Amino acid sequence: MMHEMKKICPHCNQEIELAVKSYPMGSVFQMNRFHADIYRCPACQRISLFAAERNMVTCPVCGTSHPAQEKCVTCALDAAFGGTAAREKLVP
Ligand SMILES: [Zn+2]
Ligand SMILES: [Zn+2]
Repeated sequence: MMHEMKKICPHCNQEIELAVKSYPMGSVFQMNRFHADIYRCPACQRISLFAAERNMVTCPVCGTSHPAQEKCVTCALDAAFGGTAAREKLVP
């Protein structure tokens, strides 16, 4: 098991806790959604956001990096508009 990096509250120097992991920010209709790990300070209740970049994966079909928990939007659009990816058998 890998240990998470300790995050420190910038306001009171307390160790803050991971509240929500890899929260998708913005609208579901956005192509490239920003994922953030949400940390909460137990002392002052402030919320801190950190980019959840470690959950990004590279699509083996088109090489686009996208969140691991979401499908590749480039391939999805390619398929929808009859692009090159549409001719390949895509694994769901
Ligand atoms: Zn704090
Ligand atoms: Zn792709």
